[in-house]
Amino acid sequence: MKPDIFCQIVAGDIPTEWLYDDKEVLAFADINPQAPVHILIIPKKHFATLNDLGEIDKGLLGHMMLVAQRLATEHGIASGGYRLIINCGAHGGQVVPHLHLHLLGGRELAGDMC
Ligand code: AMP
Repeated sequence: MKPDIFCQIVAGDIPTEWLYDDKEVLAFADINPQAPVHILIIPKKHFATLNDLGEIDKGLLGHMMLVAQRLATEHGIASGGYRLIINCGAHGGQVVPHLHLHLLGGRELAGDMC
């Protein structure tokens, strides 16, 4: 089975400018931004959806949130506020079958259903 597109990015098979990189996670700009800042934070390990994580993965989830907080600060949107989203499965609007956290900010998002 062909690796999903984010696994291909992790493997370096799709050239992508990384905004953050450590042994557990990677972050890069969304190719179709919905806000002035739209960054995806992904685990390097493959999980198709949030449903595939368990108790053992709670450190990874917390880490992803803190990486998002750090990126929000670095991109100047922390004080103005921002939104974090994980879409899960078909009804959740998930398109790429590799867990990812959306970081959105830089404009008023209050009325948006992202
Ligand atoms: P979701 O609907 O939660 O699965 O969101 C998937 C996101 O991945 C969408 O916002 C896409 O624009 C984004 N995306 C898909 N392919 C790429 C890519 N090669 N590089 C950056 N973002 C991507």
